[in-house]
Amino acid sequence: MHFPELYTSPLISSIILRRVSISYILKIISELREMVCKDKALLALVFLLGIMTNTEHSNPFVTHNSVTHSTLGTMIFDGKLCFTNLEHAAKDFGNIYHLIPSAILYPKSVSDISSIIKGIFDMGLTSDLTVSARGRGHSLQGQAQTHQGVVINMMSLREPEMRFHVGKHETYVDVSAGELWINILHESLKRGLTPKSWTDYLHLTVGGTLSNAGISGQAFKHGPQINNVYQLNVVTGRGEVVTCSKEQNSDLFHAVLGGLGQFGVIAEARIALEPAPKMGKWIRALYTDFTQFTNDQEHLISSPGSFDYVEGFVIINRTGLLNNWRSSFNPRDPVQANTFTSEGKILYCLEVAKYFDPEEINHIDEEIDTLLSELNYIKSTLFQSEVSYIDFLDRVHMSEMKLREKGLWDVPHPWLNLLVPSSSINEFAKEVFGNIVKDTSNGPILIYPVNKSRWIKGTSLITPEEDVFYLVGFLSSAAPYSKGKDGLEHILLQNNKILNYCKKPRLGIKQYLPHYSTQQEWKSHFATHWDVFSRRKLIYDPLAILAPGQRIFQRLGTTVKTMKK
Ligand SMILES: Cc1cc2nc3c(=O)[nH]c(=O)nc-3n(C[C@H](O)[C@H](O)[C@H](O)COP(=O)(O)OP(=O)(O)OC[C@H]3O[C@@H](n4cnc5c(N)ncnc54)[C@H](O)[C@@H]3O)c2cc1C
Repeated sequence: MHFPELYTSPLISSIILRRVSISYILKIISELREMVCKDKALLALVFLLGIMTNTEHSNPFVTHNSVTHSTLGTMIFDGKLCFTNLEHAAKDFGNIYHLIPSAILYPKSVSDISSIIKGIFDMGLTSDLTVSARGRGHSLQGQAQTHQGVVINMMSLREPEMRFHVGKHETYVDVSAGELWINILHESLKRGLTPKSWTDYLHLTVGGTLSNAGISGQAFKHGPQINNVYQLNVVTGRGEVVTCSKEQNSDLFHAVLGGLGQFGVIAEARIALEPAPKMGKWIRALYTDFTQFTNDQEHLISSPGSFDYVEGFVIINRTGLLNNWRSSFNPRDPVQANTFTSEGKILYCLEVAKYFDPEEINHIDEEIDTLLSELNYIKSTLFQSEVSYIDFLDRVHMSEMKLREKGLWDVPHPWLNLLVPSSSINEFAKEVFGNIVKDTSNGPILIYPVNKSRWIKGTSLITPEEDVFYLVGFLSSAAPYSKGKDGLEHILLQNNKILNYCKKPRLGIKQYLPHYSTQQEWKSHFATHWDVFSRRKLIYDPLAILAPGQRIFQRLGTTVKTMKK
């Protein structure tokens, strides 16, 4: 047993709860004996004794709502703490997990966040309250939820106002972590500026995407969003407010980036900016040969002067595909495009974009033609569109509005995101697209490579070992109540088949936006990084108060709760 496992040991929880029977004591002795063999045994014993003496003199264990209301209800905030209308905090984009909190904090200041966390931290082991920062709540499996804990609604934090700085060496904007990326884009564009790296959908908060990574078609060039942050203000699990960057408190800075909310609540972020282009040429072309498709994608992400955005997707057994594209794209060769049929085939669509300003219009087409001339797509399937920079970046929101109109946005989203090393991608595609997934009618399957050689190191983000790996996203929507192929059960079963296949260690595949139910699975996810991750947890959130919805660590001071669907 390693020291961090104290968090999850039911036996240790029993001590904390003082529900210790004779047989339990015997088991504890045997656990301790096991620990004594390890080098951290002394530390573990001290820790354990600390827990026992602490609980010895404390009040009987009181739980949940009563504690929340009586202890937190007297605290004074710049914003407000609510004990009613809690249901919306038990929902997320995934729409599969629903955990009701005891209270929601609507902070108006960073000190509100600090006060609530410090208040709970100071209750020590007499409380089992957890705290979940909630950005836009666009997680997929309850990651921003807490069962009877406190949700912090980060979007109500409007402090600080966005502050822009244009400098010789660094141009950036300071924002509240509850700010939506779309708002940052709007404000930056007013000054001719833009953040560099994006997600495909911009109605997500800064804190939410920085806690994961923020990977999309620009990541091959600029790294993920966590690569493009200069400084953070973080409230740790002890309630301390800490400013951190690569130079200052760098361990916390790296811990929090991609840290799944485990080490602190990001209150404020300093986002790198660059001059903004005005327009984008948005291009799609099809392949039937997977190897040619991936060779071209990898060629594009390694070529200097390449496109500004490189993604792609898989199409299995779809009809009338090119016709659907015609509402937003124009075929380069309309006659040839009419002759192409997609029925019954597995197709791979390259999607790229090149940004430009109107005065560059003459040579941008030439540049694009040169880039395209090096590729092996099916010539009749080249489609192109010219859009404003903002419309290109905000493209998923257009789809959102259409889906909302049809009542198809708030359905369950059993998404699965994987990071597949370049050396495994062919084998992966053969099995998954050839055998497991029979069609793509439930939603798109994204697939595109990134090169992490220039990504900052030491963050909490877990990726495959190889420099080049693919993001493969199965972005399914389930038809509510359906028992058929478009139903939740069927899609979850298919995801499990894919995940089971991915377990082969030689494939080196990792989950992105990871979701596991046991700490053992988290340990294999983090592999050699687990020790650092759990050490950081002990330093910055020793009672495991933060982000319980990720299910990595068990709150110290609680019974072992099973998360409910
Ligand atoms: C339509 C759609 C498209 C997407 N496209 C992409 C994409 O292209 N690339 C990509 O990388 N991801 C993508 N995502 C995934 C997205 O990045 C994550 O789901 C992200 O967590 C959502 O942000 P949010 O603000 O809703 O966070 P939430 O769901 O509210 O929170 C996510 C996690 O972060 C924690 N958290 C939230 N705010 C903070 C904070 N301030 N400090 C510390 N922890 C915090 C929460 O407790 C939770 O554990 C997409 C999601 C959707 C719904």
